Amino acid sequence: MADGTMRAWSVVRPGPVEEGYLRPVRKPVPVPADDELLVRVRACGVCRTDLHVTEGDLPVHRPGVTPGHEVVGELAGAGAGVRGFEAGCRIGVAWLRHTDGGCAYCVRGAENLCPRSEYTGWHADGGYAEYTTVPAAFAYRLPKDVPDVALAPLLCAGIIGHRALRRAALPPGGRLGLYGFGGSAHLCAQVAIAEGATVHVMTRGAHARRLALELGAASAQDAYAEPPEPLDSAILFAPAGELVPVALRALDRGGVLAIAGIHLTDTPPLHYETELFHEKQLRSVASNTREDGREFLSLAARYGVRATTHRYPLSRAAEALGDLKAGRFDGAAVLVNDWT
Ligand SMILES: [Zn+2]
Ligand SMILES: [Zn+2]
Repeated sequence: MADGTMRAWSVVRPGPVEEGYLRPVRKPVPVPADDELLVRVRACGVCRTDLHVTEGDLPVHRPGVTPGHEVVGELAGAGAGVRGFEAGCRIGVAWLRHTDGGCAYCVRGAENLCPRSEYTGWHADGGYAEYTTVPAAFAYRLPKDVPDVALAPLLCAGIIGHRALRRAALPPGGRLGLYGFGGSAHLCAQVAIAEGATVHVMTRGAHARRLALELGAASAQDAYAEPPEPLDSAILFAPAGELVPVALRALDRGGVLAIAGIHLTDTPPLHYETELFHEKQLRSVASNTREDGREFLSLAARYGVRATTHRYPLSRAAEALGDLKAGRFDGAAVLVNDWT
């Protein structure tokens, strides 16, 4: 930081991650605006959305953006207008970083739908870097007794999984199906099981199925297999539209399917009688509110939710994203800052 620059990963041009358009560069250390915190990154989780930003599945909002929105860091500076944060305290930086606060959605408590919302690692540089910034109003305070690496994936994977679980409207003691069992699903499963749900996991990876059973799932089978009993609720975590009818068929009458991803391949045509009739519901999940985040972090602390993590040094972020794409690990990858 001596010369005012830092190392950071930059999406020089969106494209396949294995072709090397996510590159380590030098950038100026960001200067926090009046209402922002400067955070020294200690760990940053690797989210599938980072892959979508890198590969151009999502439109470019900031050329050369630095991905990363599951940041556990420490306060390294603050704008003149910020009060109430102690120097060096641990800070969480998540996906949602700006809403206008005044639109109809914000006013009714649905700030996740704000048309003027902005996101870390997409509209603004994120945590694949030595330093990042966050508006103080969107920063999370973090529980003291959880290590950085175990905490990082809670900040997006965990929060989104939690919102998806709420959107799936699982009745108390209900039967929940999880399609896909990566970073988000394995955290969501822990909350659901702690709250008394019976969880069935449908996923293609043998390792992921083993992890599901270790975490207390009642069954684990292939992504396209039928669960052993009809489901009250299901959540589709895999970004695969062809699983939508599969999951809808697995629902009991009146069941709800929530689609957790920000990106989904096209769904095949739906068959009304077997996939939608009997008041089955299909819902999407868009980002989260700050309240979702605070609620999940507090439940995670109460239930002892822990991410199963795979560490990579921050200097190998592109390799971590490539491994995520290829499905080479279960749970969640976390980058640990080896640059500072
Ligand atoms: Zn708004
Ligand atoms: Zn994310």
